[in-house]
Amino acid sequence: MSRNGGTRTRAVKRPVVVLVGEDSNDRRCLRTLLEEHCPDMRGRLVEINPSMKFWAAGNERLDERVDRLRKLVNARAAREGAEVACVFVHEDLDRADSSEYPVLRERVEKAMNKALGSAHYVLAVWETEAWLLLFPDALAAFVANWQLPARYRGRDTGRLSDPKRILMNEVSRSGRRYRESDAPEIFEKAREMRLLAHPVGSNRSWTQLCGDATRCCSEHLRQPAHP
Ligand SMILES: [Zn+2]
Repeated sequence: MSRNGGTRTRAVKRPVVVLVGEDSNDRRCLRTLLEEHCPDMRGRLVEINPSMKFWAAGNERLDERVDRLRKLVNARAAREGAEVACVFVHEDLDRADSSEYPVLRERVEKAMNKALGSAHYVLAVWETEAWLLLFPDALAAFVANWQLPARYRGRDTGRLSDPKRILMNEVSRSGRRYRESDAPEIFEKAREMRLLAHPVGSNRSWTQLCGDATRCCSEHLRQPAHP
């Protein structure tokens, strides 16, 4: 209701959350995980897939890439006619967890926060597949005969070398062989089985992502980062 008594209705689109990642399977995994942790993200996640790597970039190169990212994020939101509520950027570390992980991750996230207002840098150790090893029951339910060997059960899966190789050569030894496009469906299976809140073992990048999703829901979805 305007001050002169007339009525004015305007469709206000809810701010979007931009999901950034080079690999479509990884983006699908992240979508399932984010929506599970934060149902308010349903219908608000939009994707972009720039071919950009961040953690290995030097400082100057990092600032350039983050600035390019900012433009792409804003362009994607503009296409939706919406503001940006927040941004999740996925990248694989391609190596195991170590003391350098938080340093690498925080440096990039800080640069992204500065440029984008609010952003979460999802740096998976070693790669997204390490998270799948946290859900042995979902693996077994996805393909009968897939079994996580006991020596990987209950472990810090971020410390394991080459989790994709473990899935291909050791989990899927009988039944058909694991392929990358299985990952989103295995997470979906874990979601259906209500396992996502009960990982078997640990992984620092998994814990980080879950915490970020929850914090994003309560803090960043309330108001646009770019007013
Ligand atoms: Zn957020």
